Amino acid sequence: MEKSIMTEGYLSNIYGSNVFNDSVMRERLPKATYKALRKTIDDGISLDPTVAEVVANAMKDWAIEKGATHFTHWFQPMTGITAEKHDSFISPTSDGKVIMEFSGKELIKGEPDASSFPSGGLRATFEARGYTAWDCTSPAFLKEDAAGVTLCIPTAFCSYTGEALDKKTPLLRSMEVISKQAIRVLRLFGNTTATRVITTVGAEQEYFLIDKGLYDQRKDLIYTGRTLFGAKPPKGQELEDHYFGTIKDRISAFMKELDIELWKLGVSAKTKHNEVAPAQHELAPIFSTTNIATDHNQLTMETMKRVANRHGLVCLLHEKPFAGVNGSGKHNNWSLSTNDGQNLLDPGNTPHDNAQFLVFLCAVIKAVDDYADLLRVSAANPGNDHRLGANEAPPAIISIFLGEQLTDILEQIEKGEALQSKQGGELRIGVSTLPSLPKDSTDRNRTSPFAFTGNKFEFRMVPSSGSIAAPNFTLNTIVAEILSQIAERLEKAQDFNTEMQKLLQEIVAKHKRIIFNGNNYSEDWVKEAEARGLPNIKSSVASIPAIIAEKNIEVMAKHKVLSKTEMESRYEISLENYIKTINIEALTMLEMAKRQLLPASIKFATKLAESINTIKSTGVNADISAQSELLVELSAVIASFRKNIINLEKSVADAVQMHNDSYKLACYYRDDVFSKMGMLRIDGDKLETLVDEEFWPIPTYGDLLFKV
Ligand code: ADP
Ligand code: MG
Repeated sequence: MEKSIMTEGYLSNIYGSNVFNDSVMRERLPKATYKALRKTIDDGISLDPTVAEVVANAMKDWAIEKGATHFTHWFQPMTGITAEKHDSFISPTSDGKVIMEFSGKELIKGEPDASSFPSGGLRATFEARGYTAWDCTSPAFLKEDAAGVTLCIPTAFCSYTGEALDKKTPLLRSMEVISKQAIRVLRLFGNTTATRVITTVGAEQEYFLIDKGLYDQRKDLIYTGRTLFGAKPPKGQELEDHYFGTIKDRISAFMKELDIELWKLGVSAKTKHNEVAPAQHELAPIFSTTNIATDHNQLTMETMKRVANRHGLVCLLHEKPFAGVNGSGKHNNWSLSTNDGQNLLDPGNTPHDNAQFLVFLCAVIKAVDDYADLLRVSAANPGNDHRLGANEAPPAIISIFLGEQLTDILEQIEKGEALQSKQGGELRIGVSTLPSLPKDSTDRNRTSPFAFTGNKFEFRMVPSSGSIAAPNFTLNTIVAEILSQIAERLEKAQDFNTEMQKLLQEIVAKHKRIIFNGNNYSEDWVKEAEARGLPNIKSSVASIPAIIAEKNIEVMAKHKVLSKTEMESRYEISLENYIKTINIEALTMLEMAKRQLLPASIKFATKLAESINTIKSTGVNADISAQSELLVELSAVIASFRKNIINLEKSVADAVQMHNDSYKLACYYRDDVFSKMGMLRIDGDKLETLVDEEFWPIPTYGDLLFKV
């Protein structure tokens, strides 16, 4: 694409051009239909089937004009990625021709055979029915790929008995729940105008880009998304020269096309930059309603992969593609706002006298403390085990960063009454030609897993490859629960202000333990957190039982976000996912070790032996100690490598008859299989440093990270 066409006009033409958005609806729907649909979208009023019929027709015409031949119900099963089944618009007529049809019924409901999606025992395979239901709160869009143009209809996915089989259903349920409870609290503060409260999310996405030719030579990347072997390269990220560095041309070309593809889909990709690790980058969109932000994040991940391919690159979304260099995460920026646009987490200039803000703030604090285990598991996946608590990204301990100003106000509240807010003042850079900048009231803290950043919270534990649905429906629900407790008390209060003051004081006294403004990576914090009684859940397996903990089932069931059965199914799915992931990794390691690394090492050892013999046979009295010593060292590592292959093989084989309890089996995979993988890797990486690079069968870390 030429620079010259990236004009404002061009951009405003392409932005959202593949989305059946509000302006398209307004233009193409009869007024009454448009109004009825808006009522459903904005106020949650149930949808009238006759409205769906008219919308379907308009949607079809619009899609066909833009080249679509097929439509699909686009849904988000528990695999964490999206699924789609394409149907064409074609309908044969009696005279042997076809017309293009799309009915209201087809828009509203789909029936994919759902037996092969994870259900965690919710459905027996013989009950294969699954339904997809149109989510009109997230706009339909057109996807362009090699198959042509497809109309994608965002849908929720449930079983024959109405149980959620996906990530979107609980998210939509949680949006209603938090709206209801937040409105109750707002009414107490005399707000009579807001009719809904929505949560907003902006998800910053980290990713790696590597060369496709090199990727294709690594079975580990192909099968597992991460490297299972790889010695440390001479240069990693220590110079910190990649962070915010100038972007290479090939990467820029990718980013530019990615932006355009995303803009067409109405995804407001805004910032992009190089991240800490070499070959690592980040994209952040402008925030939107949580439900849409979740759909958009899925689209962003899919589009990144597709566009990368067109540039001879591969996009890695795994949380830890490379050992020893930073991994990737997702920063889930979350806030609450009224439908008339008031951000409820905006402190204003003098937060100490903004009682409404303080109530919402304290609700979040209490929610995060009461349900830290549930939040922790919402961000758990096997990939994230390499990050959380591993001295990079946030630790596994959940705590909240509030900053100086708010912490000071909470301290004042605990002692009695908050009377003042510390102000930031001006920042002077000490160069007279530079302007003085208004200083924020608090500095940033990059180590906190849950940081207040001005007018939102940033949940930083979220895994880069995962859906953001679970972190958000968890947040929505637990905050809704605390808001309902607050509303309950304040609605009954004789004297609103006195009761509120008491309530805030209680929350601060009881939950201040979750607030920590220091360095979350330090050893001292781990000890301090333990003394404060905060959970430190180190592995994803250990976090999973929180899904079926009584208090957590209770809160989800009370608000009808997930029933006990649905929680139990998610517990099973999470464990199964862990087991399968580690199993695939172990098998991939074995295949690489046995068929690539071991043979290559033996070949090189043979070469050394040949060299020794050849030199000896000349009769010249040359010093062959180098070859001999190297051969001895190499042979020792080869022998140990082979022993570790056998150990890992046995460990994997044993797993099969090990346990029929998924939790115990998952623990076995973590404690036995995974640790044997670690041992095998040590030898594999050692071999890489000993073997002639001409013999080494796979690209090295240096190749993967720097040859882009
Ligand atoms: P940074 O955290 O790097 O300083 P920003 O302040 O620009 O960056 O915000 C990061 C992300 O937070 C962006 O995706 C932005 O849209 C999002 N964000 C900003 N305000 C809100 C809000 N009220 N609710 C949810 N997300 C928000
Ligand atoms: Mg950020």
